[in-house]
Amino acid sequence: MPTESNRENLNRQSTRQTATKNVAVLGATGSIGTATLDVLRHLDAIDTESRWNLFAASGHANVERLGEIADGLDHPPAKIALSDPDCASQFRSRHPEGAFQISSGPEALVDIACDKAVDIVVAAIVGRAGLESTMAAIDAGKRVALANKETLVVAGSLVKTRLANRSAEILPVDSEHSAIFQCLGDKTCKPKKLILTASGGPFRSWTTEQMQQATLDSALDHPTWDMGPKITIDSATMMNKSLEVIEAHWLFDLPADAIEVVVHPQSIIHSMVEFEDGSVIAQLSPPDMRLPIQYALTYPRRLACQTPPLARDQQWDLTLQPVDRDRFPALDLGFEVAAAGGTAGAVVNAANEAAVGLFLDGKIRFTDIVPACRACLESHSFDPNPTLDILLRLDGWARREVHRIISKP
Ligand code: NAD
Ligand code: MG
Repeated sequence: MPTESNRENLNRQSTRQTATKNVAVLGATGSIGTATLDVLRHLDAIDTESRWNLFAASGHANVERLGEIADGLDHPPAKIALSDPDCASQFRSRHPEGAFQISSGPEALVDIACDKAVDIVVAAIVGRAGLESTMAAIDAGKRVALANKETLVVAGSLVKTRLANRSAEILPVDSEHSAIFQCLGDKTCKPKKLILTASGGPFRSWTTEQMQQATLDSALDHPTWDMGPKITIDSATMMNKSLEVIEAHWLFDLPADAIEVVVHPQSIIHSMVEFEDGSVIAQLSPPDMRLPIQYALTYPRRLACQTPPLARDQQWDLTLQPVDRDRFPALDLGFEVAAAGGTAGAVVNAANEAAVGLFLDGKIRFTDIVPACRACLESHSFDPNPTLDILLRLDGWARREVHRIISKP
């Protein structure tokens, strides 16, 4: 997050006539990536101070979509990366190099994140796969518009250390964290509590017995947000909120017991901050990721946004309810991991990624996901001060462990 002196620098920069903002979108083919490209087109059309240029775009294996991105712009990105090397050869055969440089493999993501020409890196890769490129962007001193919450869940402590030593800054894209960032304002008062809102997902009012029979289609049918498959399943288990509790802990430097979660089915109040005097400040807007993405790109400036304003010619029903932690046991994991730190986040994140993958492949039941994560957390050998190597080794271990647990008769 920007420090006070950082903020002053940013304020100075924003009043200067800047030429071009070169943006690298890692995970450009996904839901956040697609919304970001839309925001860049919009900003380039309306911003009188800066030109907004998609300098580089990455996708993993979606050759079609990356082709549309490369061919669909008047000025194609200078760099295109496909992290899956097999798909990169397919892409190369359809798009001979010339207009842009094509690279492949995970190292191509790091190369883009560090490119001297890049001003802002949008970290929109899903899962732990986004970790190295996000860390590289921090090391290179970039502004990182962070959607990839898993990087903080896995390695929050290491990210904080690296941030402290460099001029980089993280601006949250996750709507809850963007809301909190906006509610904190000039940071003159330390918040007492961060109150994250949760839609409750498609199973908000289902019983545990009903959830045991949940189909993939019903779990993917999110009531308020249109997102990639992994985060959509995470929203159904409420593991997404759990990951967001950990993300908030690292982003805003508050302990787990200063973070709360409330269910807000309409997804209009994106989160709230309570101050010492009991005053609660909230941020409201329709459920549309283009607003937090744009704010992370243009901060501290606020420019006209494509998100439609909240309709005020009709009755609003904004409800808040406590979370039922018995029906959604994922949430306890988030608070435990945020309190424990060390290796806990890497283990729970990897177990969750593996279990969600198995559920998406039809191999396990919906209600098997969270117990698999808990089993891995409780059986791993906890290290309070791990290196990146240890975290990545445990990531591999937890993924194998989930497969072992589910293959037990
Ligand atoms: P998505 O599945 O729609 O897109 C994921 C992107 O990551 C794609 O571009 C894909 O090609 C790339 N990718 C997948 N596996 C990869 C790998 N192994 N190596 C490199 N790249 C890989 O996901 P999404 O919904 O856009 O979510 C992206 C991130 O943003 C996640 O961390 C998610 O939690 C976070 N987020 C998403 C939303 C949302 O509305 N979609 C909201 C808040 C936060
Ligand atoms: Mg969120």
